[in-house]
Amino acid sequence: MTVPLIATNILTLKYYIQKIIIRGKGDFMNYGITEKLIKNNRPGEKLFPRGVVVHSTDNKGATAENHYNYWNNNACAKSSAHYVIDWKSIIRLIPENEIAWHAGKLTNQRFIGIEICEPFNGETGKFIEAWKRAVWLTASLCIKYNWTTVNNVYSHYGVSRIFRESNHTDPYGYFARFYKSWNIFLYEVDTEIINQETLKKR
Ligand SMILES: [Zn+2]
Repeated sequence: MTVPLIATNILTLKYYIQKIIIRGKGDFMNYGITEKLIKNNRPGEKLFPRGVVVHSTDNKGATAENHYNYWNNNACAKSSAHYVIDWKSIIRLIPENEIAWHAGKLTNQRFIGIEICEPFNGETGKFIEAWKRAVWLTASLCIKYNWTTVNNVYSHYGVSRIFRESNHTDPYGYFARFYKSWNIFLYEVDTEIINQETLKKR
């Protein structure tokens, strides 16, 4: 069975060479995370994350900073997330080892929550910037915790169906407004996981 093995190796080699060439053109993602921990909407309970749930804010035009201010200042919001992402930044609001209120109880006890901000209709440039940051952050978390998109990356829609704690369907509608889908998101996260792992090995 040496032949198939060689064939696989050649394919893998070709793949990595291609990646390195792409890297050479500067086409790689690397975003910083700003930590601005919120004072409110944090129960302060321990979380051992088993995956990540991706949401969208359903609050057109509101930025990551707007959400930080809302959750930081409004003691009665009764909602929060670990990360909020817009077209300019990724803000960490709650440490990954502490529960956030991004979904129902069972979901919150298991998952890190990411909220993607929504630009107005037609603001495709802003959408793409927020999307890329979400892909990058989700891939980074997968590498950090040794997670896969198949087992550990969920949409709010997905966990709503599993745990039956809500009827929320985000971020499906948001992605569709900009001609993307949940499956495309997972595909791009998978690609980005390979990209980041390749980069680490260089
Ligand atoms: Zn949601």
